[in-house]
Amino acid sequence: MAVKILIPTALRQYTNDLASIEVVGETVGDLFLAFTREFPEIRKHLFLEDGKIRNFVNVYVNDDDIRHLQRSATPVKDSDVVSIVPSVAGGSQSGDAELSPQEIERYSRHLIMPEVAVSGQKKLKAASVLLVGVGGLGSPVSMYLAAAGVGRIGLIDSDVVDTTNLQRQVLYSTADVGRPKLQAAIDRLNGINPFLKIETYQERLTSQNALEIAASYDIIVDGTDNFPTRYLVNDVCVLLGKPNVYGSIFRFEGQASVFYAGEGPCYRCLYPEPPPPGLVPSCAEGGVLGILPGTIGMIQATEAVKLIIGKGEPLIGRLLLYDALAMTYRELKLRKDPDCPICGEKPTVTRLIDYDHFCGIGTAADRRVPEPVREISVIELNNRRSAGKELHLIDVREPHEFDICRLPDSLLIPLGSLEQRIAELDRSWDIVVMCRSGIRSAKAVKFLREAGFEQVENLKGGILAWADEIDSSLPKY
Ligand SMILES: [Zn+2]
Repeated sequence: MAVKILIPTALRQYTNDLASIEVVGETVGDLFLAFTREFPEIRKHLFLEDGKIRNFVNVYVNDDDIRHLQRSATPVKDSDVVSIVPSVAGGSQSGDAELSPQEIERYSRHLIMPEVAVSGQKKLKAASVLLVGVGGLGSPVSMYLAAAGVGRIGLIDSDVVDTTNLQRQVLYSTADVGRPKLQAAIDRLNGINPFLKIETYQERLTSQNALEIAASYDIIVDGTDNFPTRYLVNDVCVLLGKPNVYGSIFRFEGQASVFYAGEGPCYRCLYPEPPPPGLVPSCAEGGVLGILPGTIGMIQATEAVKLIIGKGEPLIGRLLLYDALAMTYRELKLRKDPDCPICGEKPTVTRLIDYDHFCGIGTAADRRVPEPVREISVIELNNRRSAGKELHLIDVREPHEFDICRLPDSLLIPLGSLEQRIAELDRSWDIVVMCRSGIRSAKAVKFLREAGFEQVENLKGGILAWADEIDSSLPKY
């Protein structure tokens, strides 16, 4: 009798990429014997030395877990389909997590829902989720996953809590300013739920450490704020065959999806290439509504929990777009790209790469700059102004930023209107351009230099540096 065995993506590297195979046998044990004889490499991934099936591998005959049937001795017949399901809940942990009386009380509102129940809560306890970035998105995701009882939560972040974080990163309190985020996070999450294992990685996720860190987690939650790390997270998840719960935020708009290459598209199917550096402003440059990461983070936490308990329709193959101003959700269908460089039919990316280089940071983009932008420090600017030197200070921020703080005698010309208003400037002037931190003003200096202005310099560090070094009464934002 030939019975079909479905092979999960993670194991297809040992089966010549076959998604299914037909083998002959009377019991599950027979089938696996025949299967591993054909593909001996897979044996150690499925079985322990003593021949028992590894506890993070679940085997189903049709809809039934063989642990609830007769295990290896479970009989099979012609029309049966046998699935190998590497447990989403499990990883390096032992399979069955038991709930203590305290946990049963704590999770009672889950336990009385048939969709979760004791079995779902045990899956949550046995599950592990890695949060890449513990900022705006990572805050609500980590707090709700901790409260929901996800047994092992990994946090990776190298930042220190900053005052400007507190408007949205609700994991941290005012007293945490200056502390490493992960230290503050451990305290807060242990306070929410002491029955968990919190693991921290006080570092940046890089091509060198990513596979090793991510390998022991079931699900990866992308809470990053930059493109190199976003592509790195995607590629790690595709290579390890793990779901990537994606969220991104900007001003009033957010996106969420679940990229799971085994079952749908990946992030590169959606965005094969990153935008050129500088085209898409970061939240530090463009701002973000403080509540927005809460909304998007909640969607990510919900998707992670659904994946763990195996209920509902995950956001796989669907991109959710949220507009807080219009208060609308839209859903786009995402398709797997057969030409995707990493999850397509002929992948060209087969291991982790240099993601800064891929995103054009610190390499090609820099070489395109014909000459470095001339800079002036805030101290030098202050000295020149005190000495009564005639110079024209142009502030290229937006009017609402100008309202927060400004330097006396500065002329406001937002970067976007510099081209139209260039006639207001004289090429004989000594010009210093400034913005918040020096990034937009550097673009303005480049533009003015190309437009024939000779005496034009960029204020290094912008008004933030001025507030730090010259005038501490200026508010920072
Ligand atoms: Zn892809």
